[in-house]
Amino acid sequence: MKKEYDFIIIGAGPAGMTAAIYASRAGLHTAMIESGAPGGKLLKTNEISNWPGIQKEPGTQLAMDMFEHSTSFGAVYEYGRVKEIIDGEKKQVICEDGTIFEAPAVLVATGTRERLLNIPGEKENIGRGISYCAVCDGAFFRGQKVAVIGGGNSALEEAVYLTQFAEKVYIIMRRDVFRADKIVVDEAKKNPKIQIIQKAVPAEILDDGQHVSGLRISYPEDKREEILPVSGIFPYIGADPVTDFLKNMDVLDSHGYMKVNNSMETSVSLLYGAGDVCSKVLRQVVTAVNDGAVAAQDVFHKLKLS
Ligand code: NAP
Repeated sequence: MKKEYDFIIIGAGPAGMTAAIYASRAGLHTAMIESGAPGGKLLKTNEISNWPGIQKEPGTQLAMDMFEHSTSFGAVYEYGRVKEIIDGEKKQVICEDGTIFEAPAVLVATGTRERLLNIPGEKENIGRGISYCAVCDGAFFRGQKVAVIGGGNSALEEAVYLTQFAEKVYIIMRRDVFRADKIVVDEAKKNPKIQIIQKAVPAEILDDGQHVSGLRISYPEDKREEILPVSGIFPYIGADPVTDFLKNMDVLDSHGYMKVNNSMETSVSLLYGAGDVCSKVLRQVVTAVNDGAVAAQDVFHKLKLS
């Protein structure tokens, strides 16, 4: 099946949805292709407290509001998992189910995917105590002990979130330096349910055949190990860009992020990137929506002139 649009956006997170608002409001026949629910990382974020004008709001609420807004000017929400983009006068966006979307301009706003720990016991216990989404699964660990891995904003924010359910939350960091913002570190440090363990790395996830029963951590400097009696493990050790389907195009940096100019356009004419998938300094909702707006506006101007 082939579907034609003026502008195709791949990914319906904050960047993609903002591009959809700008493009459809400007009159472009626009589609957002998404393989899951709209919202991107917002769906996995308990609380947003740095979206100007709203002091605190659940990520899911902001996602829903953005989604309703993004389709309100006529942008179409299409389900699909993209496997390839073929450049040409009209770009072809080819999905795994065989559907082909065609448009002169394409924006990639696919964000990032959580990194795995890659330690024994991880893969087989996903969904059996290992979760990469505290917002989705935290409530299953009421009254239990859990571990969060990482020392960045995601790890610390989600650790604090988990304290409303868990009896105890360990934060395991491989260094003694946080990557998280000071305000986030302070909140985690003052929470009596949180114990921060530094200079330790997760070595093995233990289970009782059905569910996670512990986490073996090692302290490389003192060459000792310890088993934490946790039933839940939440790795937040960063993420990698979702750009596998762009490997045939020369638009990625050495880490797989998209290289774009000030208009969010890649070296391929009318192929754009926006949001966390791009090589950039600050990955935030506010910077993602900026990218989406800039890209859509550039598409509008270029298509209008052509
Ligand atoms: P991140 O900032 O890259 O932090 C990843 C953490 O995981 C670091 O502490 C890192 O340790 C650790 N780590 C990496 N690989 C590891 C491994 N194999 N074993 C153990 N630990 C490992 O990732 P993030 O927290 O997901 O954040 C991603 C981006 O989104 C950041 O730019 C962040 O600021 C942003 N973000 C912002 C907010 C907010 O503003 N409220 C919320 C969430 C995310 P090292 O430090 O030793 O490398």
